[in-house]
Amino acid sequence: MAQPASRLESAPPLPSLIGMNPDQLAHAVGQCGGRPFNGGQLAQWLYKRRVADLGAMSDLPKALRVTLAEKFSTITSQVIARQESGEGTTKLGLRLHDGLVIECVLMREHDTDDVSGPPDRLTICISTQAGCAMGCRFCASGRLGLKRHLSAGEILEQFFHVADLLRQEGAAQGRPESWLTNVVVMGMGEPLHNFDGLMGALEVVNAEWGFHFGARRVTVSTVGLPDRIRELAGQGYQFNLAVSLHATTDEQRTSLIPTNAGTGLKAIIAAAADYFRVSRREVTFEYTLVGESNDAPDDALRLAELLRDFPRGNVNLIPMNPVEGSGLKEPTAQAVEEFTRLLRQRGVNVHVRRKRGRRVLAACGQLRLQLESASGSPVSG
Ligand code: SF4
Repeated sequence: MAQPASRLESAPPLPSLIGMNPDQLAHAVGQCGGRPFNGGQLAQWLYKRRVADLGAMSDLPKALRVTLAEKFSTITSQVIARQESGEGTTKLGLRLHDGLVIECVLMREHDTDDVSGPPDRLTICISTQAGCAMGCRFCASGRLGLKRHLSAGEILEQFFHVADLLRQEGAAQGRPESWLTNVVVMGMGEPLHNFDGLMGALEVVNAEWGFHFGARRVTVSTVGLPDRIRELAGQGYQFNLAVSLHATTDEQRTSLIPTNAGTGLKAIIAAAADYFRVSRREVTFEYTLVGESNDAPDDALRLAELLRDFPRGNVNLIPMNPVEGSGLKEPTAQAVEEFTRLLRQRGVNVHVRRKRGRRVLAACGQLRLQLESASGSPVSG
C-alpha cells in the first residue's frame, strides 16, 4: 500500500510507523482495531524484513492494513536520483514530503583487491538534517544553511531505500539480498544538532527488536558540539565517535568551521576525551586536508601536539574533494604523504581515507546542489 503521490509531495505526513518501538507499534495497531501481537508482526516486517509497504505485509489482516494506511505513514520520501561512483559507492538523492532534498550513500568495500565476490562491508551513510546550520566552508550543505531537522522516521527511511537497492541487486544477480554491516551518521547535517531525531533513529538502529546493529558498528560524526558530545556519552551506548577537526589553531578552524568561534578546539578535544572515558570507545579525529590551507608540516606538528595527551585517538586524513565555488584546493600527494609521516613519527595513529566515491560522495550536499540547480527548484522551507 504505497503512499499516494499527492501525499508524498504536499500534505504533512501522518505519524510514521517507522521509528516506533514495539510498544508504540502495538498501540498503533490497537488504535486501528488490531490485536497486540499484530504489533510484533509489524515490527518484524519493518525492522527485520525491511519492508515498509503495508500492502505486502501478508500476515496482517487486510482491514487492519487499510486502517493503518489511513492513520499512519511509512515511507514519505522518494528516490529522485541515483549516482554510481564505479568504486562501489552509490549515492541516492531523496525528496522529502515537503520537497526538500537530502541524500544517503551506500559504500561497498572489499578487504582484498579481488572485488569479484560480494563485498565484505556494506556501509550506509545517512543524513540527519536537510541542509546544515554549521556553515563549514568546504561543504555544500553548509553553504545552503539549515532547512530543518529530519524526524527519526525520515532518518530511518534512508535504510529502507538502500534495502530496496540491495534487494534489486540481489534479484538481478540471482542471490539473496545482502544487508548492511555498518552505519555512519556522516551525511547531510550535524547529527548532534538534531539530537532527539538522531537518538530516536539510533534506538531502532541498535535495538534487538530493531535493525540490531551492534553499537560498535555505528559511527556518529560531529563537527564538535562539546555539550552534546557529553550528552551522547550519557546515553549509555557505545557508538563510535568521529570528531571533525580540520584545523590546528582556532583562527584557522573558525575560518573553515564558523561554529568553532563559540567552542574552540580545546573544549572539543576535552569533550571527546570525556566521551572516551565514559563510553570506552575510541574516538576518531577527522582532518580534511585542504591544499595550501591546513596541509603544511607545521599543521601536522600542531595536530600531534593537540592530541599528545588524548587517551586513545585516531586521525583520519581526508584529502579534500574540490567543491565548486568554495575556493578550496585539493592537497598534493606529497603534502598528504609528509603530513602522514610527521604524525606517525610522533606516535599518532593515522589513516588516510581512500578517495572512495570521489565522484559521488564528495562533500555532503553536492548531489543536492546539482539536483536543485538542474530542476530549477531550490529547497523550500
Ligand atoms: S561538513 Fe557536516 S557539519 Fe559542516 S556544514 Fe557540512 S554537513 Fe554541516
